Order: sequence, then structure tokens, then C-alpha cells
Amino acid sequence: MKIDRIETSLHRIPLPVPVEAASHGVMRAFDMVAVQLTDSDSGTGCGYTVLNAGHGAGAAAVIDNAFAAGVLGEDPRRIEWLWNRLWRSHHYSGRGGLVSFAIAAVDTALWDLRGRRLGEPLWRLLGGYRPEVRAYAGNIDLNFPMAKLLDGVRASLAAGYRSIKMRLGRPGLHEDVERVRAVRELVGRDIELMADANEAWRVDQAMRAFRALGEFGLVWIEEPIRPDDFAGYAHLRAHGGVPIAAGENLHTVAEFTALIAAGGVDFPEPDLTTCGGITPWMKIARLAEAHGLPVTSHGAHDLHVHLLAACPNAAYLEVHGFGLGDYMASPLVIRDGMAVAPDRPGHGIEFDWERLAAHRVAGSVTTG
Ligand SMILES: [Mg+2]
Repeated sequence: MKIDRIETSLHRIPLPVPVEAASHGVMRAFDMVAVQLTDSDSGTGCGYTVLNAGHGAGAAAVIDNAFAAGVLGEDPRRIEWLWNRLWRSHHYSGRGGLVSFAIAAVDTALWDLRGRRLGEPLWRLLGGYRPEVRAYAGNIDLNFPMAKLLDGVRASLAAGYRSIKMRLGRPGLHEDVERVRAVRELVGRDIELMADANEAWRVDQAMRAFRALGEFGLVWIEEPIRPDDFAGYAHLRAHGGVPIAAGENLHTVAEFTALIAAGGVDFPEPDLTTCGGITPWMKIARLAEAHGLPVTSHGAHDLHVHLLAACPNAAYLEVHGFGLGDYMASPLVIRDGMAVAPDRPGHGIEFDWERLAAHRVAGSVTTG
């Protein structure tokens, strides 16, 4: 059995409403790079990664110009070997960045192919702990005026969420405090509330924010400072009084190892689309488990529901604002705040390629 076809496609998906998060600015669309693999037994697998609008072409070029030659003709069942082959052959320009996004799409396609061939859903292949995962609404709302912010929270409650995230990083800390207070008063004490600063602060600013927000019972404050200041994370975790989530901007297992070793995180939050795929994501989840930590996810909820359902230390699935459910035959369903990993083989996602074609920017096919 060998891989004999790889198809890459780049899509720019518009967002229904422009949204803002600190350090990202206002976002109107995002890029999705899909990889479809076919093997010599007509087995197929599909993977994808998600990036800011404009960044997808770089990841697609890495796959087309470099990775395709590394996987064509090889046995798709040797996922660890293929992953290491691609990773090591790009250590000079990689070990993170676009290479991590690119390898994620290929790795996910390999896992999907394996699941489809075996007739098993990924969540059982990867560990099979429990198919139900607590979900939270990952609202992106930093640019929303108060009324719209609260409307978004009401919509999340109406959709069944019992855990909701909001954004931090307004120009004045008093604005953040007012907004968190208003949301807490709206939802009451029984709804779990997370807040995401998207690297808005320096350590000293973050410490002031942690103290000002400490009274609102937040599950966590996410990414208070730049992602690679592990000493800063450790300082905030030791002295800030509010749990910390982080990881969407870490792109290697080694970075998670360093953050956890520094004592800088309560909720490691890997994103398989940014950290190199399912293969390293599971290693990070097991690393967290071995350190007595939970694991949560960022983005790509239709994939992460499987990974979290495989793990005994799963905490939360983020249902992200950059959803692809409109382009899937069976989008993720949330009931009573819980997501359920589907029993369909592989990741179980069937994209509506005709609908996606309206947003297709580029694509290529390479055969071996
Ligand atoms: Mg975040």
C-alpha cells in the first residue's frame, strides 16, 4: 500500500460578522488549506489546517513544493515515520511556523485515512475514553459594544452552552472589568466563564488585570502575555490568583514541554492545526496528563472533539468562531453544553466541496 495522489486546496472562508481579538485586529475571513490523500488501494483521507486570511498560501506551498515528494510512494500506515520524515527534513526552516500548519493538514489526512480503512472513528482509535466532551462557546467579541456582547452571550446560552468565553484587551482595563462584570451578572454563577486576552498585556499589566478580574470566578484567563514568555507565565500562575490557559500559539511539542516544565499553565490548549497535527497533539495531551493537568483545545472543533474524547484528562472543547460547519454534511451538534464525537469512520467529516468551491483560491494535484 502506498500513497499515490495528494490534492491540496486553499479556501478563503468569509466570516458572517467581522470580529476582533487582541493582537489579531478585526478579522473578516480566514484561510483553510485542505489535503486529500489517495492510496494505491483507493483508500482516502482528508485533513486541513486553518490560518489567518492571507497566510494559507504559504502553508499550501510547503505541502505542494516539499511535503508531496516526501509522502508520495510511501506507506500511509506509518504515520509516525512519515511525520518525523517531514518534520526533520524541514528543521532548518521549520520547527514551528507555517511548517507546523502544513504538516498538520497532511498528518490529519493520514489519520483520517487510517480510520476510514479500519472503519473506526478517530476518538476510539486514539484512546476511546468517552465520546461526550464538555464544550464552550469561544466567542470573539472584543470589538462588540456592550449590548452586542451581551446578545452574543444570550445566543450561546440559547444554544445550550453552559460554558462561555469572552475576549479581553480593551484599551482600558476598566473596560474589561465592566464587560466581565456585565457578562457575569447576565449568566449568573452557575455558568462557567472564560476570558481570552490574546496576548494583550505585558506581565505587569497582566498582573493588574488578574487582580482586578479575580472576583468574577473565571475558569481561566487565556494567553495574557506573549506566548513564549514561559517565565512570565510561571510568575502569573504563581501570583495571579486566576488559572491560565495557553497553547494556541505554541507550534511544537518542545514548547509545550517547556511551558509545562516552567509551571506556567493550568489548561494546556494545543491546536492540532497549529502544532503539527493529531500526532503531536496527542503527545501534548499525554504530557499534560502525566503532569496532572487537564487538556483543552483551540479551534477546529470538528476534529478536536475526537482527540478530547480519546483522553481521560479532557477538560473542554472550544467551539470556535471560525467554524466550517456550514460546509460539512454533518456539523458538530451541541446538546446541553456537551459535544459528542461521531461514530463515523475517521474524523467523519464530509466536506461539501461544491459549496467550498465558491471560496476556493487555489489548488493543485500531485501524483506519484
Ligand atoms: Mg485563544
